[in-house]
Amino acid sequence: MSTTQLYFDHCASTLPHPDVIRTVAEVMEQVYANPSSIHGAGGQAEQLLRRAREVVARALQVEPEEILFTSGATESNNLAIFGIAKTHQAAGKPVHIIVSEIEHASVYKCVQQLEQEGVEVTYLPVDTNGRVRPEDVEAAIRPHTVLVSIMHVNNEMGAIQPVGEIGQILRRYPKVTFHVDGVQGLGKVPVRLAEWGVDLYSLSGHKIQGPRGAGVLVKRKHIMLQPLMYGGAQEGELRPGTENVPAIVGLAKAVRLAVEGQAERYNKLTRLRQSALEHLSQLKPLVVNSPADPYSAPHIINISFPGMKSEVVVHALEQKGIIVSTQSACSSKLHKPSRVLLAMTHDSKRASSGIRISLDASNTEMEIDRLVKSFKEMTEQLQPLVQR
Ligand code: PMP
Repeated sequence: MSTTQLYFDHCASTLPHPDVIRTVAEVMEQVYANPSSIHGAGGQAEQLLRRAREVVARALQVEPEEILFTSGATESNNLAIFGIAKTHQAAGKPVHIIVSEIEHASVYKCVQQLEQEGVEVTYLPVDTNGRVRPEDVEAAIRPHTVLVSIMHVNNEMGAIQPVGEIGQILRRYPKVTFHVDGVQGLGKVPVRLAEWGVDLYSLSGHKIQGPRGAGVLVKRKHIMLQPLMYGGAQEGELRPGTENVPAIVGLAKAVRLAVEGQAERYNKLTRLRQSALEHLSQLKPLVVNSPADPYSAPHIINISFPGMKSEVVVHALEQKGIIVSTQSACSSKLHKPSRVLLAMTHDSKRASSGIRISLDASNTEMEIDRLVKSFKEMTEQLQPLVQR
């Protein structure tokens, strides 16, 4: 990225923390033996792995054996969803899964695939704040419901989902596994897996200043999963393959830093977000899609300029050195209206013109001023082209 550009796409990926970069480089250089090898060098790698598992477990207040290292949240979500579905299918039972309409593609596409294989899926709508109603979850439960998968924070418009309330309800249905895609919540808002009764929880390293291609699936002890891959005893045989020790050690550091700094980061991000929203909301024809506090995560601002295609806005801003995004990076090349904004607003003009600004705590008020100024210039430039 050029030094004159300002990056506001931290939901897509973050700049790795300098301590993480240093740790990953050191481990790559010094500890390259296979942790499954029985010699001393292998033992050293295994020890690093064990310590990383302990660090992540402590940060999330679970047990070390409940941490499975994966290649990222896409894999964690796949393992959680197919793992549960396959466990029940193998027992010859009918399977019903509940998700929301606003899940990330790495959850949504899994259940769509399962639907093609005969699994029943309920897609829950969201309210005008972009939130699932806990009572809708309970109403959707059937005798053969095996899984509820609801994200913690939506990656496009930032709505914090009532995962604690949903978890409370699900305590009355012990046969239903509760999975939470926690990617955009960790380090930004408090996470209380045990209190919420979460059974499976996915997180991703590169969203929290950690390495790319490294993630975690927390699997509470009582949960049985079928693996997606076979071929080794690593990660309790649920995720075979030689472990990426440098990335895992870097990820553990990133998780610890994310959790330790959460409250301070929340306050800083909230100030930046409020300041940006205060100025941006004066622009025309702007509509704010993100919910208001206390339902919104502190780092995500989603706005629409109805009549202006989001791709056109993103490119016009890039010419001014401002990097923002349309929808989730995994879906942004599809050039379709955002499924998430459509579910929330039922307005295809708004859903085709959504812009996501995602902040990092290292952003400054001066950078927000430049962001606002660039948006102002952009709207003046593009105003004559607005399709009414
Ligand atoms: N879930 C959410 C909510 C996300 O924002 C993302 C990243 N776009 C993912 C899952 C996938 O994470 P990863 O890039 O680690 O596969």
